[in-house]
Amino acid sequence: MIELSRRYVPPTLEGRIDALRVLQSRVLEKREWLVDEIQKATRKCRTDALVSEIFSVLDHVHYLVTHARRVLAVHPVPTPLALFGKKSKYWLEPYGVVLVISPWNYPLNLALVPITTALVCGNAVVFKPSEWTPMRGVLESLFEGLFPEGGFQVAYGDGETAKGLIAQRPDKIFFTGSTATGKRILAQAAELLVPVDLELGGKDAMIVFDDVDIERAVQGALWGALTNSGQSCTSVERLLVQETIYEKFRDRLVEAAAGLRVGVDTDGSTELGEMTAPFQIEKVRLQIDDAKAQGARVLTGLSWDGRSAAIPPLVVENVTDAMAVWNEETFGPVIAVRPFRDEAEAVRRANQGAYGLSASVWSRDLKRAERVASALVVGNVSLNNVMLTEGNAALPFGGRKQSGFGRYKGDLGFLAFSAVKSVLVDKDSRKIESNWFPYSPRKYGLFARLIDALFKRRWLTFVLTGLKLEKGEKHAGVR
Ligand code: NAD
Repeated sequence: MIELSRRYVPPTLEGRIDALRVLQSRVLEKREWLVDEIQKATRKCRTDALVSEIFSVLDHVHYLVTHARRVLAVHPVPTPLALFGKKSKYWLEPYGVVLVISPWNYPLNLALVPITTALVCGNAVVFKPSEWTPMRGVLESLFEGLFPEGGFQVAYGDGETAKGLIAQRPDKIFFTGSTATGKRILAQAAELLVPVDLELGGKDAMIVFDDVDIERAVQGALWGALTNSGQSCTSVERLLVQETIYEKFRDRLVEAAAGLRVGVDTDGSTELGEMTAPFQIEKVRLQIDDAKAQGARVLTGLSWDGRSAAIPPLVVENVTDAMAVWNEETFGPVIAVRPFRDEAEAVRRANQGAYGLSASVWSRDLKRAERVASALVVGNVSLNNVMLTEGNAALPFGGRKQSGFGRYKGDLGFLAFSAVKSVLVDKDSRKIESNWFPYSPRKYGLFARLIDALFKRRWLTFVLTGLKLEKGEKHAGVR
């Protein structure tokens, strides 16, 4: 078991930025090897590994090295009139040791994005990868020689290993994974009062109004539901299509889904890889069986035997609220599609259920799309695109409801890995503050008048009352 070391002395911010630049060039140089390692660990297709893991990591590190100086600088803030003569500012400080616990679906991205942010903020990081995709030695080789001893460590193991690390009271926990595990971590961390950010599961809705370009929306739905074989927290799992275009949309969706190629490729020639974990194959099978038993129709992928890890796209219609495929996270290449009548119904259906991670809204009427986006109880919404908020490293990412809390990425993401220190500076003076002791009925009256004048904007009264207060009260023993 790795001991959490508190002795790490971080390099200067410039040193940390330089280290991340080297990391970035190593990822760039070694990208084909990294894609091989990711494929070995996950069985995903090559393009998913290159674009959603390598490219997103490079883009995120680019954001960090470009913006860290600004975000981690001292931030002066206004000081109100009542505190005349003082100055105020805040800055971000490292927490200390940050424990990053990751899932298996994007083993490079969901490791390196939080790890690099924590490191640039000056923390030491202990990283606990998923036992399903440990990729032993890969991250160590990328980080070799970049940070002083104790700056970056990897702790291999399962949930028990993670529990043992939490018991050592890290200064912050950043968790990405299932809602069930998130609750367990929160319970353990509560006993120790360790702050936790939780990036949990999702059941994202895609809402398609009838004024869209159908072909583009169909292609968006296919990618959003099937990239990484649907094993993404922000996969489209509930496809809501306005009833006026429903049949046309569904027919094209079925036709296009049937043309997608499944398998672990070596050259970018498949769209879907294989499933990573056997328990996910079983979950997909159970949800499909449950849906069929309750009257759903499976329109594609009928050749799948319910056991093979190479699951073809499964388009399912005639679904109801009672089906697991509609109300539980699936995490597989399943597209449950359903018609809706109007905007109110679309919003109501999308807001049903426990999760609130992301959503997408498709309409030429951008006012309507933004209105719907405001009504959705989720952390992230793409308009006329899909899974794209996480494509911009400047946008904070995180969930609501059972999808968790906390935000990472973007400027706000630095806060996930930093303690905020607020500082007020008074100049060296002999002044005894008027709100200090002694109190008196006269002083009470003056303060009441001062407050009244301040908020009613009666500046002359404010200044005269302030001057009287400044003259102060003389009291034996208090000068
Ligand atoms: P999981 O919760 O089973 O495991 C995640 C990590 O937690 C693993 O490293 C595991 O070893 C560890 N763990 C297990 N029990 C633990 C415990 N008691 N204490 C501490 N750590 C423990 O999740 P998973 O199956 O690896 O990943 C899939 C889930 O992750 C899905 O629900 C998916 O939606 C979610 N996810 C969320 C996001 C997001 O950003 N919101 C991103 C990707 C995946």
